[in-house]
Amino acid sequence: MNAEPLALYVHWPFCVSKCPYCDFNSHVRSAIDQDIWREALLADLAHEARLLPGRRLSSIFFGGGTPSLMEPPTVGAIIEAATTHWQSADKVEITLEANPNSVEAARFADLAQAGVNRVSLGLQSFDDSALAFLGRAHSAREGFAALATAQKHFRRVNFDLIYALPGDTEDSWAATLGQALSLGTSHLSLYQLTIEPGTRFAAMVARREFEPLEPDAAASLYELTDAMTSAGGMPAYEISNHARSGQESRHNLTYWRYGDYAGIGPGAHGRRLGRRTVRHKKPENFLSALARNGHGIAEEAPLSSAEAADEALVMGLRLSEGIDPHAIADRFGLPGIVSPDRIERLVASGHLKRSGSRIALTARGRLLLDYILGQIALVEESRALAVG
Ligand code: SF4
Repeated sequence: MNAEPLALYVHWPFCVSKCPYCDFNSHVRSAIDQDIWREALLADLAHEARLLPGRRLSSIFFGGGTPSLMEPPTVGAIIEAATTHWQSADKVEITLEANPNSVEAARFADLAQAGVNRVSLGLQSFDDSALAFLGRAHSAREGFAALATAQKHFRRVNFDLIYALPGDTEDSWAATLGQALSLGTSHLSLYQLTIEPGTRFAAMVARREFEPLEPDAAASLYELTDAMTSAGGMPAYEISNHARSGQESRHNLTYWRYGDYAGIGPGAHGRRLGRRTVRHKKPENFLSALARNGHGIAEEAPLSSAEAADEALVMGLRLSEGIDPHAIADRFGLPGIVSPDRIERLVASGHLKRSGSRIALTARGRLLLDYILGQIALVEESRALAVG
C-alpha cells in the first residue's frame, strides 16, 4: 500500500454570475440537473479510485465555481463514495467553498450533516462599495450573517478577503484586517487583487476605466498584512494563507508539499502517481467525454523528473516552512535542483533563510517569489540538465 496520503479535489463549475476579476473555470447556466451532475462526478471519481487503489484519503475539497450551490445530498453522495473507495485518515478534512448569501447559508446545517467539516467563505470585503466594484452578489451585512451561521455549524471556518483594490490605503486595510482578525476564525486567505488576462477587469484596465494599485503600494500592504497577522497569532504559512497553529488547510498543504491529489469535475487538475491530469473545462464537454470514456479527462501525461522537481520547488517555496532541496532532488533522482551560490547570495541579502537543510523565503523574499525562483532554479534553467 502506498502510505502517502491522498487529497481529493471536486470542481463544481457553476456560479450564479461571473465576477469581473475571475479567471476560474466557472459557468453560468439557467438550469443545472443535480442528478446528472451527481452521477457524472461519482463516475469520474470511480475512475480515479480505480487508478489509485489502497490509498489513505486525508482531505476532500469542494471548489469552484460555487460548490455551495450543490445540493447537500450531492455533496453527501460524493463524500460517501470517496470514503468507501479509499481508507480514511483519522479525520478526513472536508472543505467546501461557499458564497456568503442567505440562500447558501441556509444550507450549512445540511452540508455539515452531509459530512463537510470546514467551510471557506468568499467574503472578499466588509465594504459594500468594494463588493460592488468586485461584482459580488452579497452585501457586507449578508457576509457577516453568513459567517455567523458558518461558525455555528462548522468548527473550522476560513474566509477570503481581496485587498490592494484601487484606492486602498494602509489605514483602510489595517482597519479591515483588524476587524478580520477579531472575527474568531482559525484561518484567513488574503489575496491581492490581480488583473488576470481575459477577465472583465483586464478589459476595463485596457480601456483605462480604472488603474490597479501601484506595485509599491501593494507591497506595503503585503508587509502590513504580514506584521498584523503575525501579531494576531495567525501568521502566513503560505504566501496568501494564514492560520492559527494546527489550523492550516491540510488539503492545500498536500498541493504545496507536492503530494498526490485526484482532481475530478470540469477543469479539475490532478497529480496521480507522477502523471498530470486535466479534465475538460466546459461542463457540456465534460459530460460528453464522461459518456464516451467513463471519465472527464482531456489531457493526461507523465511528468518528467525535471518538471516534477521544478513544480515541487515552485509550490514548496510558497510555504513558510520552505523546502529541503536535497530531499526534492533525491525524490526525483536529480543531482541538484537549486544553485548553492545563488542561495548563499539571497540568504546574505535577506531574501532567503536557512533552517537545517531547509530553505525558505523571508517576508521580504515573499514579495519577490518569481524573481527568486528564476535565480535559484537549476532545473527550470536547464530542464533536466541539472547541475550538482
Ligand atoms: S463566485 Fe468565485 S468562481 Fe464564481 S465567478 Fe465569482 S470569483 Fe469566479
